Amino acid sequence: MPEGAQRPLIIGSGIAGLYVALRCAELGLRPTVVTKARLEESNTRYAQGGIAAAIGPDDSPARHLADTVRAGAGLVDRAAARVLTGEAPARIADLVRYGVPFDTIEGHIALGREAAHSRSRLLHAGGDATGYSIEETLKRKVLEAGVETRERTALRALRPGNRVGPVAVLSAANGSSVEVTSPRPVVLATGGVGSLYRQTTNPSVTTGEGMAIAFRAGALVRDMEFVQFHPTAFAREGAPRFLITEAMRGEGAVLRNEAGERFMVGRHPDAELAPRDVVARAIQEEIGRSGRGRVYLDATGLRRDLLLARFPSVSSFLLGQGLDPSRELIPVAPVAHYMIGGVATDLNARSSLPGLFAVGEVAATGVHGANRLGSNSLVEGLVFGERAARQLTRRTSGGPTPPKPTLDVPLARGQGSSADRPVFEEIRTRLWEEVGIVRNREGLTAALARFEEITQSTEPRRDDELPGPVANAALTAGLVARAALARTESRGVHFRSDFPAPRAAWRHHLGLRRSARASRRR
Ligand SMILES: Cc1cc2nc3c(=O)[nH]c(=O)nc-3n(C[C@H](O)[C@H](O)[C@H](O)COP(=O)(O)OP(=O)(O)OC[C@H]3O[C@@H](n4cnc5c(N)ncnc54)[C@H](O)[C@@H]3O)c2cc1C
Repeated sequence: MPEGAQRPLIIGSGIAGLYVALRCAELGLRPTVVTKARLEESNTRYAQGGIAAAIGPDDSPARHLADTVRAGAGLVDRAAARVLTGEAPARIADLVRYGVPFDTIEGHIALGREAAHSRSRLLHAGGDATGYSIEETLKRKVLEAGVETRERTALRALRPGNRVGPVAVLSAANGSSVEVTSPRPVVLATGGVGSLYRQTTNPSVTTGEGMAIAFRAGALVRDMEFVQFHPTAFAREGAPRFLITEAMRGEGAVLRNEAGERFMVGRHPDAELAPRDVVARAIQEEIGRSGRGRVYLDATGLRRDLLLARFPSVSSFLLGQGLDPSRELIPVAPVAHYMIGGVATDLNARSSLPGLFAVGEVAATGVHGANRLGSNSLVEGLVFGERAARQLTRRTSGGPTPPKPTLDVPLARGQGSSADRPVFEEIRTRLWEEVGIVRNREGLTAALARFEEITQSTEPRRDDELPGPVANAALTAGLVARAALARTESRGVHFRSDFPAPRAAWRHHLGLRRSARASRRR
């Protein structure tokens, strides 16, 4: 194996990046992790509800698979979901081996339940501090294994497909210097797009750069229209959009409108425990009616000691905001939460470009279809992370087959200017307002036109030039808007007011690929 092939570059340090790094080290490779903020900063760190695996006595991977397929609104890739649900228990065993302190009851791992899971299968740690416990444990193990970690932002991958992999262009945290790595396999583990939206549960590091890097390099992306919105984030002016976990509704908290009515009753048989997209749209309607920017989660029926024990992070956040959830209503509103689409990968995490891999939220494995089953994303990073690490020890090519239709998207030569913060903020506002929970042709067309205009001015002129963060943001935002405009139906998390029902003709994935025509022009 050539020297470079033994030294994979892993970009991102959430569950996917850290787990791949650790497994690579255990398998005898010498990985480097680069990450754009502190090592532990990631979506992973904030995950609350749990991590799904069929380990209970009354459960099985087949049941987990059935629930995953049912949630995915007709688009789950069965082969990928079978891998996910079949290998999840073994990956949980890895986390136990690494020392993740999962909560137990009488010596056995405690299993919680969430909407649309037919069995209790969510492992949690520290009550609702599951992601934090996993991230801290993996970080400690990665450092103990002597894996090199560096604070760098990846901006570009060049010359993918050469013998060992692309070269990566990295910039120092403060942008003061740029380096180009030698060719090596590159694993994108850069997470989702949440922070490209004005309102989100995600920390600021999740700006969809992995998707832009892969697309610009020529990789296939898919399912970009499927952005999941979480119905209940804390909604008070000036306060962070902290996630108020669904599990609280699972314990009996209910939603109320300005008039104090339980508006989910009668709207869906499962009322507050209806699928996330249904609850998010219902809240959005109430907000539209009242103009108050929020509805209320009423947890006053739950005992204070239960709230503190089962939801320590949420309770301590709310108490820190001067709100006692056992006595007062919690203002909540829907926000961008999870990116289902991303870099198209095969069952071994290979993108369509040799040497370029994608794992975790940045990848589109097909396991979530058009609607993610809660708690399936942390485990996805482990299952496909393991497969990526094993693949990295071999030298084979492969990659996903482009779905039909796959749109050829031109990427015009730009001015290479580094646009400023207000443009970045404009992208966030437009995504939220025009490519948000409820979409239509008019808004999507306007958003796409503006994102393409920004791309035209910020996209690098030459292959060896650097795209700035705004160029990457505009490119990814444009892919989301383009896919959402193309899908003229409503399915799963993608809702079009001008096409409010699913259409049989759209029961397939949508691929996006940089058109060869534009590549030749560059
Ligand atoms: C509040 C919240 C609660 C959630 N709860 C759950 C839950 O209970 N169960 C569940 O399964 N899922 C949950 N999710 C989703 C889940 O946390 C994520 O899908 C998962 O953690 C993604 O892991 P990842 O490793 O792919 O990405 P992340 O954990 O987001 O990590 C991405 C990493 O990439 C780095 N990065 C990004 N761009 C670059 C770049 N250009 N260069 C270098 N580094 C870069 C970031 O700094 C970060 O380290 C939740 C998400 C949120 C936000």
